[in-house]
Amino acid sequence: MKWTFDIHNTAQRLFVLTGAGISAESGVRTFRDSGGLWEDHRIEDVATPEGFARDSQLVIDFYNARRLQLKAVFPNPAHLALARLQKQLGERMTLVTQNVDDLHERGGSPKVIHMHGELLKLRCLSLAEHIVEVSERQKMDSVCPQCGAGLRPHITWFGEIPMQMELIQQELLQCSHFVYIGTSSQVYPAAGFKAFAKSRGAIVMCINLDVEPDSHTDLVLQGKAGEVVPNWVQGILAPG
Ligand code: NAD
Repeated sequence: MKWTFDIHNTAQRLFVLTGAGISAESGVRTFRDSGGLWEDHRIEDVATPEGFARDSQLVIDFYNARRLQLKAVFPNPAHLALARLQKQLGERMTLVTQNVDDLHERGGSPKVIHMHGELLKLRCLSLAEHIVEVSERQKMDSVCPQCGAGLRPHITWFGEIPMQMELIQQELLQCSHFVYIGTSSQVYPAAGFKAFAKSRGAIVMCINLDVEPDSHTDLVLQGKAGEVVPNWVQGILAPG
């Protein structure tokens, strides 16, 4: 099937889902490249509520290290190209990322839905709507400025429900084109989005380094996101 997103056809809407692979060329390691570990740590230790309950110092140190790492990495051409496309399409494009880094924002994307949370935020252990920005380290004794309770990283850990799912669901219902970039499609519910979009009639495309056959995907562009995404975006913005 031909990928036929038409920038002039206002009935068409694009849903883009990104994963760790889009940030790989910026120097942020993916899970897959690290044998299922996250920066040499077991997921159970640093990305579950049980891990936090067991050893909150380890978890806080881990996310402090990830925050520090953000200062040494920069958006790559894939982030920049998606931002260019989003600025052109406005509300017709939805960008959802599983990444907790801020590279889409620093690449210029005007609106990013972080379904798995953000490294640069903490949230209250008592009231989840109390969110605090954090640019550097979370201290072990940091407390919520609104209510004085303890704080945790604003990250969706395994076993927790991702953020903004209602909004995501609405956007999935409306999209005519769905593209997933740099994700291994192993973490649910994000991994199920392509099948849902497809069942609602959307055209589904994948951009990834390694691609496995998949009945929900109509078109595959195999290669590095930093090379493939800018070409794909250019093809939409300047067809012909
Ligand atoms: P994943 O690590 O499971 O899979 C990464 C995918 O990207 C793989 O399919 C791999 O083939 C592909 N890939 C690697 N380099 C690429 C490149 N240069 N261009 C295109 N594709 C490339 O990642 P996931 O599916 O996003 O799921 C892992 C979970 O890990 C997410 O929930 C996320 O929150 C978390 N995570 C986030 C970051 C981050 O914020 N940057 C980093 C590591 C893990």
